[in-house]
Amino acid sequence: MNGVLAEGQPPWAGIITCADSRVPPSWIFDVNPGQLFVVCSAGNMAFDDGVVSMEYAVANLGVPLIMVLGHSGCGAVSAALGDQPLTPLLEQSVQPIRAAIPSGLNELEQGVEHNTRSAAAALTVKSSGVGQRGGGWHIKNLRRGV
Ligand SMILES: [Zn+2]
Repeated sequence: MNGVLAEGQPPWAGIITCADSRVPPSWIFDVNPGQLFVVCSAGNMAFDDGVVSMEYAVANLGVPLIMVLGHSGCGAVSAALGDQPLTPLLEQSVQPIRAAIPSGLNELEQGVEHNTRSAAAALTVKSSGVGQRGGGWHIKNLRRGV
């Protein structure tokens, strides 16, 4: 690392996003290295490690905005809604997603929305340094450069 980035990072947002390779935040927001502070987890869940990372971003980097980024076609949410056998760790990992989705709801995109809102709420409940304001937004028909 050299140049400006070697001197520090000035991210303008922190993002908890899915590990899905199709939704990299730097591509979605068309930004350069150093502009976003990103934590990835299957199903954009606010695990403790991700919450701690966001607390660091707020307290030490002055990040003013934290987002939880869900996405259409999420495999983790699909796994949580499905009835296919999962590995023990994956079964454990999808439990917060299942808990976030109302009983009887089987539609993937609605499940994604419930899960994303639940992760945002979990972030603020788990953290004393991250507050919640605002609501949710949908980015539809994402095509960069079109
Ligand atoms: Zn996903």
